[in-house]
Amino acid sequence: MNRFDRREVLKAGGLLAAATLTSCSDTKPASAGPSEAASTGPSEAASTKPSEVASTGPGEAATAAPDWTGLARRLDGRLYRPGQTGYAGAHQLFNPRWDSVQPAGVVRAGSVDDVREAILFARTNKLACVPKGGGHSYVGASTVRNGLMVDVGALKSLAYVSTAIQIGAGARLYDVHAYLDKFGRSLPTGTCPTVGIAGLALGGGLGIHTRTYGLTSDRVISLQVVTADGVVRTASATQNADLYWALRGGGGGNLGIVTSFRLATIPGGKLGFFRLSWPEAKAAAVLRGWQRFAREAPATTWGNLHVSADDNGTVSVHVIGISTTGSATSAAAELESFVGAKGSARTITVKTHMEAVRYLGGGTTSPRSGWLAGSDVLRGPMDAGAIDGLLGVVKAAARAKLVATAILDPLGGQAANQPAGGSAWPWRSALGVIQWYAELPGQPSTAQLRAAQGFVSDGHRAVARFSAGGYVNYLEAGRAVSSYYGSSLPRLRTVKQKYDPTGFFRTAYTLG
Ligand SMILES: Cc1cc2nc3c(=O)[nH]c(=O)nc-3n(C[C@H](O)[C@H](O)[C@H](O)COP(=O)(O)OP(=O)(O)OC[C@H]3O[C@@H](n4cnc5c(N)ncnc54)[C@H](O)[C@@H]3O)c2cc1C
Repeated sequence: MNRFDRREVLKAGGLLAAATLTSCSDTKPASAGPSEAASTGPSEAASTKPSEVASTGPGEAATAAPDWTGLARRLDGRLYRPGQTGYAGAHQLFNPRWDSVQPAGVVRAGSVDDVREAILFARTNKLACVPKGGGHSYVGASTVRNGLMVDVGALKSLAYVSTAIQIGAGARLYDVHAYLDKFGRSLPTGTCPTVGIAGLALGGGLGIHTRTYGLTSDRVISLQVVTADGVVRTASATQNADLYWALRGGGGGNLGIVTSFRLATIPGGKLGFFRLSWPEAKAAAVLRGWQRFAREAPATTWGNLHVSADDNGTVSVHVIGISTTGSATSAAAELESFVGAKGSARTITVKTHMEAVRYLGGGTTSPRSGWLAGSDVLRGPMDAGAIDGLLGVVKAAARAKLVATAILDPLGGQAANQPAGGSAWPWRSALGVIQWYAELPGQPSTAQLRAAQGFVSDGHRAVARFSAGGYVNYLEAGRAVSSYYGSSLPRLRTVKQKYDPTGFFRTAYTLG
């Protein structure tokens, strides 16, 4: 993928913020957690696989050095320890910036039992414990210094049954789409081919189908999750309904380690695409027109706006949009009429499901990359002052030769409706999400990081009057966790208290 294509991919998706990971080790005595007696069916029965730690009880004081050899012996998958062959690759995330964060061990789970073993081992040995799916966390939340990373990447089975798909939590988006294509089906997801279904679906999942079919999390019918007490539970509208609510939008790493999802699929037919560009002088009109488009265009239509600073000092403005009707001609014309000017460059095409997936994803895979980003959820259309402010931030980045973009994704349509059973995703009435994205090298200098952070914080300031909070899949360092949850926060805390009363799953980015 060339540099331009790569940037298109990243801009359609998200970024990382600089962060110092804090330990989530369990320092309090563990309680029994949610009652094991609550287990009502086979799927909730704790595994009967022998576990050295199950007899001692999770969370009791660690009196000896962790028995890593014993853990490795009990696993169906693999344990990687620092210095061992494979560790370097096993502990990496998508952004090379987190390579220096070294877990004490990485469990590459080969089964649901392995996930349970890993949780109980971490509890017994007072190790911080974080799940890893696709490894694309913006803040490196899926790795932990000196703790235990539980990588579900090998649990990636896919099975299509009567318009639903059962997905192992380790599956990546491209593989999910390629599999579903065989059945003429698709899913609303994000665009990056290597993003994990786990992190994406647990935090929401925005993409081209958001307005027609809702978020990825809205399609989740049930999940299998191992909670902090080592119990394997099903969460659905009829089983552990509070957990089901919380796991749909509450964000990864908070409530347990999900091992599989069952989701309702959508038709995988042809999509109409448009790409419209305007000169910088039209940027304010495009922002106004896009806001109207986000509010008034039919739910079959979606378009994300990119206002980009390039390293040659210029600003560019374009919208990539789709129509699920199969033709984007009228969608493009409607946007142009709201802007009050035709695009200076315009492309209208029709793509099959997989052509669309590859186009938006820049291919079938993504190379590791560095960047820093943040977000604002727009509670409503920005006024002229905020639009000028946003443009000023991008222009300042262009002058500083920073490659940075304000990416605006529309909500509305089906995303404005709660799915059956409700969900923790809190931004149903919002207009859209702005992502402040700055491109960085894998190992940025302090000056480069500061420039990127400046872009993100200036962006926040520019639109503060219209911001309801942030999108939990675009986590940022140094931001209050509460700002990702809106009115869902109190109920999420109640669910956290019930299923993880000792705060076993705890980082700077988890619910307190
Ligand atoms: C290039 C790129 C493009 C993107 N595009 C989009 C997009 O188009 N739309 C969109 O909505 N988002 C997008 N994102 C953001 C993405 O949704 C989040 O970064 C998401 O959290 C990544 O999930 P992951 O499994 O790959 O990451 P991970 O880093 O593995 O996990 C993210 C979080 O979830 C936790 N977690 C992982 N696995 C599990 C599990 N099995 N059980 C419980 N918790 C778990 C981790 O501990 C971590 O806290 C993009 C990100 C990148 C880097």
